[in-house]
Amino acid sequence: MSAALSIDAWKSQAAGLAYRNQAFIDGHYVAAASGETFDCINPATGKVLTRVAACDNEDVDRAVRAARAAFDKGVWSRRSGAERKKVLLRFAELIDEHATELALLETLDMGKPIRDSSKIDIPLSAACIRWYAEAIDKVYDEIAPTGPEAISLIRREPLGVVGAVVPWNFPLLMASWKIGPALATGNSMVLKPAEQSPLTALRIAELAAEAGIPAGVFNVVPGFGETAGQALGRHMDVDCIAFTGSAEVGKYFLKYAGESNMKRVSLECGGKSPNIIMADAPDLDAAATAAAWGIFFNQGEVCNAGSRLIVEESVKDRVLEKVMAVGRKLQPGDPLDPKTAMGAMVDVTQLHRVLDYIEVGEKEGAKLVLGGQRVRGETGGYYIEPTVFDQVDNRMRIAQEEIFGPVLATISFKDPDEAVKIGNDTIYGLAAAVWTRDITKALKTARNLRAGVVWVNCFDNGHISSPFGGFKQSGFGRDKSLHAMDKYTELKATWIHIGN
Ligand code: NAD
Repeated sequence: MSAALSIDAWKSQAAGLAYRNQAFIDGHYVAAASGETFDCINPATGKVLTRVAACDNEDVDRAVRAARAAFDKGVWSRRSGAERKKVLLRFAELIDEHATELALLETLDMGKPIRDSSKIDIPLSAACIRWYAEAIDKVYDEIAPTGPEAISLIRREPLGVVGAVVPWNFPLLMASWKIGPALATGNSMVLKPAEQSPLTALRIAELAAEAGIPAGVFNVVPGFGETAGQALGRHMDVDCIAFTGSAEVGKYFLKYAGESNMKRVSLECGGKSPNIIMADAPDLDAAATAAAWGIFFNQGEVCNAGSRLIVEESVKDRVLEKVMAVGRKLQPGDPLDPKTAMGAMVDVTQLHRVLDYIEVGEKEGAKLVLGGQRVRGETGGYYIEPTVFDQVDNRMRIAQEEIFGPVLATISFKDPDEAVKIGNDTIYGLAAAVWTRDITKALKTARNLRAGVVWVNCFDNGHISSPFGGFKQSGFGRDKSLHAMDKYTELKATWIHIGN
């Protein structure tokens, strides 16, 4: 199994990889109509892996037309849940069968450690698709309690053509959170992966076809946000956009919808999640360790990263010492080394964005107590060491803005109400955590925190059955769980008059 491979074995497999680098439209790989391509760069080395089709209006339009034609023919949309389940289960199985290759593509494309892509990203992507496959033939519709003279059948119908636009931090997993419920409910899809990380999406397109998903039902259009992403957002025949990415771009999709066909939009956006550690946490060391992983995991490129450590003053020094001890051990390394727990930032832009924020933090007067530097520059890759700021004021930019890198802002508090106030004081509301052994304090804090997910005495735990998504400018609509199916279906009431 992939988990047991050595660094040399991963490297030799990487050397033999073939890349799918064309769009996948109506069951075929095709070049962009313009013939344009863009560089796909390995962030661990700065070298080009391949050149990928740069899709634009014409390609997106072809993909949407193929998706609509498949939807209207009913080759997928009108099949029973049990039939779709069978195909999607095979699709999930094929992802598992190609896990080693897909994990490699993910790591080479976006710089995350191979141990994460092979043990987390790819298996969870397959598991997500499998979960929706298994759910879809067990979901019932409703009959309204109208009275004896009529029957109102309340049915959920697929929307039609779903455009999914996803980010680069968990490329296949974020796509799978859309693919699972959108395809299970009978829609056709056009997926636009992030320009930094298109390779796994392109590869699974043919696995979807091999599993039996009919041509036109699942299309992938790689390209830039301003071109391919915007074309999808403004297309008059796309029924819904399922977006994951920054709040800034999320707002563009609302505008695109308003200026085109009022398509449904669901937004899974960023966060500045507060991780609140009270002095009476059941285990302060465990809380500190989780706080460190909560910000350094995936190089800090996590929407729900615990980027604000809000810690009770009396235990701050102890907690911070432990966080830093974990950080010191977590130095970035070659993503293909199975021992590496922290890889490279996704691209040179992100590298500089994070370094700029570190400079801003210092200028604002926060105290840099760990890291702060680019490292491994000799590799050509984009690595940043785990970075911790102490004495942060919540009004500082490093406490308010999403950095999306391994940078922790530590803020102290004296009483629980103050912690909640600080916790809620950003534009975001994606996730939050509270550590205390006092159940009343835990529940009150969880209730008062404005976030879509609140963890108690843990951080970043989850399950596909539990919804994920944000309050405030972290977006609306939920990924995961049966609730995600609501985003991809429309309610229809069929009123049958019976009479007396
Ligand atoms: P981004 O918003 O820059 O890009 C996301 C996607 O939108 C990409 O596919 C991109 O090509 C596209 N895009 C960019 N500009 C566009 C435009 N003008 N028009 C149309 N499409 C456009 O985000 P990113 O840098 O790829 O990812 C990081 C962001 O994603 C962070 O804010 C992070 O918090 C968020 N995120 C949220 C969740 C969640 O579930 N809430 C999960 C992962 C990441």
